[in-house]
Amino acid sequence: MGHLVLAVLQVEDAAAALQRMVEMSGDPLVVADATKLVVSQRLVRKLCTRYSREEPPGDELLEWARSAAESGGLDWATASKRFRSATGCPECMNTGYRGRNVIAEALEVTPGIRAALRERAATGRLRAVAIEQGMISFSAHGILKASPGFTTLGEIARHSGSSFV
Ligand SMILES: [Zn+2]
Repeated sequence: MGHLVLAVLQVEDAAAALQRMVEMSGDPLVVADATKLVVSQRLVRKLCTRYSREEPPGDELLEWARSAAESGGLDWATASKRFRSATGCPECMNTGYRGRNVIAEALEVTPGIRAALRERAATGRLRAVAIEQGMISFSAHGILKASPGFTTLGEIARHSGSSFV
């Protein structure tokens, strides 16, 4: 019988959290055996729907989204691309956003991830294995949430550390 321990780390994503645990323990085998799931989450601003309008994003933003979706486990070809843009109103103090919502990714420590940890894989490799095994990155999750107009694509790009927004 084991114990379930929950811990919080300030790192950029789930793969980086796993890598941080390896650094802290000094032994990837311990982390591989003891870890079940790593969840990374960020809060994004929610679109104020009062006056928001459907609007295709600019080419640069759309290209960022395509690339982030494809590298994040989301099928861009079939994803909805009905993005909306924020329009201010008195209720959102003209910011175009009201309230917050979470975008998240869940990295399950699968046999594939365990094997990568045993091989002392770098963070990028851990991320790639996680995506191969079905993880949707938090940027891709954000793009999924942006496409029904829950938030804007620009807001997701901003929280994904994209420099052009
Ligand atoms: Zn508003």
